[in-house]
Formats: sequence, structure tokens, C-alpha cells
Amino acid sequence: MRSIAEALASMLPAFVPLGEEELHLLQASGRYVSQEVRARFDSPPFDNSAMDGYAVRASDVEAAGPGHAVELPVRGESRAGVPLAGPLEPAAACRIFTGAPMPPGADAVVIQEDSERVGDRVLIREASPFAKHVRAKGSDVSRGAALLHSGDRLGPGEIGLLASQNIDRVQVYRRPEVALLSTGDELRALGEDLGPGAIVNSNVYVLTEMLRALGVIPVPLPAAPDSLPEIEAALRKALEYDVVITMGGVSVGAYDFVHEAFVNVGIEPGFWKVRIKPGKPLAFAQFEGKPVIGLPGNPISAMVTFEILVAPCLRKMLGDPRPHPQPVLARLRDSYRRRPGRVEIARAVATREGNEIVVALHDRQGSGSLPSFVGVNALVLLPSDKAELAAGERVEAILWGSGLTSERSPFEAIA
Ligand code: AMP
Ligand code: MG
Repeated sequence: MRSIAEALASMLPAFVPLGEEELHLLQASGRYVSQEVRARFDSPPFDNSAMDGYAVRASDVEAAGPGHAVELPVRGESRAGVPLAGPLEPAAACRIFTGAPMPPGADAVVIQEDSERVGDRVLIREASPFAKHVRAKGSDVSRGAALLHSGDRLGPGEIGLLASQNIDRVQVYRRPEVALLSTGDELRALGEDLGPGAIVNSNVYVLTEMLRALGVIPVPLPAAPDSLPEIEAALRKALEYDVVITMGGVSVGAYDFVHEAFVNVGIEPGFWKVRIKPGKPLAFAQFEGKPVIGLPGNPISAMVTFEILVAPCLRKMLGDPRPHPQPVLARLRDSYRRRPGRVEIARAVATREGNEIVVALHDRQGSGSLPSFVGVNALVLLPSDKAELAAGERVEAILWGSGLTSERSPFEAIA
């Protein structure tokens, strides 16, 4: 049986970005750029004022100071979007507002608070040295500079940066289509009548949401019954997509046909079983290089193995150069006893208490309990060799879902 690290090492190489596509910037949120993006022009594109006040020549107001005002005639104004027509003559001031272009000739801004307007003249009460309160052309971004690198993810800030550069199309990695194939005679779609022995195929909805949240395209297929030929037919259909995830039928029961079906349609087995709890029976295989993952059917096992083993692989395939979650150190609220042997991924609620993150493990850690995922915001990683964990012990935890939130504002403590 493989460790989680060994399983990931076998799986990751099969998940390679699919190639690029060009998208409109506003369609590209959440995508990873596939090529460096360079600045088209200097930003700011022209010298402009950082303050409301008067644009002047610094040398004309050198003598201003406490008790000594310099008086200048005001020649027009420059406001954002409407610059002064023409240059600023020497020994004159131009009314200026934040973001307005500096008139040619002006090289400093006197802030409004240091001036007094008297009709068409202004008294300058404070000197303003060269370039003071001026945002110089190109001071933020210079033309040709790299704005984004391959692998950067487009979030609101990145989209804003490219928009400011009038870049309306971007090259990004394609999103894989991931087929979801549930297996089991008992499974029914949401809203269908449940006859005797039937259950809702809840996994397909969970996995669809998890795939969507990652940014890949979920393709939920109709569930296949526990019949070898029907699973084979469904697998052939599923193999039309970029990645195949099956759910259920991957254990050792008499109706677990997934392994056999893999072999019969020509999917090459990679490994079966991982030292992870829950989720041991996970299988990994490939069809002509295409990744095929067999998740266990137990809802918690499916969710946990997806998050721990599949999500990093899919992030890599999306073009993410840092696909692995980085755990935080936390303290266990209560002691916990367990059978050693596998790394356990425990659902927990994490809260901030003073300077620490404290994790309260859910009391139901069984692999089938769906209520145990409600409100979970941390997955605690318990090492395989530990049978007993004391209250207050340090553990690694992956923050999950909503992360750390509170009914109280952090600014009650930050003045
Ligand atoms: P299996 O892995 O097929 O042996 O299934 C293990 C347990 O998970 C059984 O109780 C199944 O009924 C349940 N199960 C399997 N597939 C699903 C599914 N898609 N949605 C919800 N429960 C499932
Ligand atoms: Mg089954």
C-alpha cells in the first residue's frame, strides 16, 4: 500500500496542462495565464497630480514659507480627463485636481491646504520641491515590463492590472473536462422516487461542486448500475473527457466491478489502496496517458480523497505551479485516540483563540457520516504512527472552505 506522498508522486505526472486558449479578460477570472503578459504602455501614462491643489514650477515657490506667501496668477485648470490646453507659463499656477495631467512646464504641486485663493490669484504659503505630489509617467509600470508570469492566477487584482493596460484578451491554460461516473445499483438522482434500498447519489453533487470550485469543468454522467458490461460502456463514454473519476465499486465486495471494468476497456492499472483514512481503496489508472481515478463510494471517503489526492493534481493540470495546500500549525482542543497505521484526515472546526489556531475534531469521524462535514473549515492531518493525541498537542491542519471567520471584527483588537 502506498503512502499519500507516494500516491501523489505517481499521480501528478499524469496531470499536465492541456494547452492554451485565448479569452476575453472578463471571461478569464480564476484562470492561470499561460504566457508572460507585458505592459503595453507606461503607467501612469502621463505625469499627473497626486493631490488637489496648484501645479507650479518648484523654482517659482521656493521662497514660500511660514509668514511669507508667494503670490501667483492662476492660469486655467487641469482636472482628471480634461487637461489644461497648452503649457504653464513661468511664474504662474494652474488649478489642479487629483489624477489630472500636469501641464507642460509645471513640475510640482502645492496642496490646496497650503494655498489661499484670492480671485484670479493664489497665495502659496509653503514651498513645494521638484516633483512633489507628482505621480511621474511610468512610475508604477514601465512599458514592456512583465505584469504577469505563466502560472499566475487571474483574480480581481490581476484583472484590474491588465484592464488598466487596456489588455482585453489573455492567453490562459484550458480547463480540463472531468467526467464523474458513479456506480451502484442503489443510486438515484436527486428528486427521484427512492424505492426500497435506494439512496440519493449525493456524491455526484458533492464532487460536481468540488470540481467547479477548483475551476475545472465537471461532467456528471448518469450513474452506472453494478454490472460489468454497463460500467464498461459507461467508462468508454467517460474516456471521451480529459480526466475520469469513478465513484464506488472500487473495494473488494462481490459487486465491486470497477477494477475489472478498467482492465476490460484497456485502462492500465496504476495503484490501488493508499494509507489514508478515510479512503483506503482509492485506485489510480491511466488510459493512453489519461488519468482515471477510482474514488471509494463512501461519501466522506470520496470527499476526503478528492481533496487530498485529486485536487492538487487537477490544480496542476489547470496550470497552477503551486498546487499543494500549505497546512497551518494548530492545537488540538481535545485528546483523540485512534488506531495507528494510516494518515488520518480528520474533519474539524478551527477557531482562533488568542495567538493560536485551535481545532475541535468532529466527534463522528466515520467514513459515512454526512452531517460531519457541515461547518467543517479544517482538515487535520494526523500522522500514521500516533495512537494517542493529547489535548493541546500541535497538529498540522489544512484550512478549508470558508477558512477562519468570526462573528467579531478583528478591529476590536487592532487599533
Ligand atoms: P462502495 O464504494 O460502492 O462499496 O460504496 C460504499 C458506500 O457508499 C455504500 O454504502 C454506498 O451505498 C455508498 N455510496 C456509493 N456511491 C455513492 C454515491 N455516489 N453517493 C452516495 N453514496 C454512495
Ligand atoms: Mg457500490
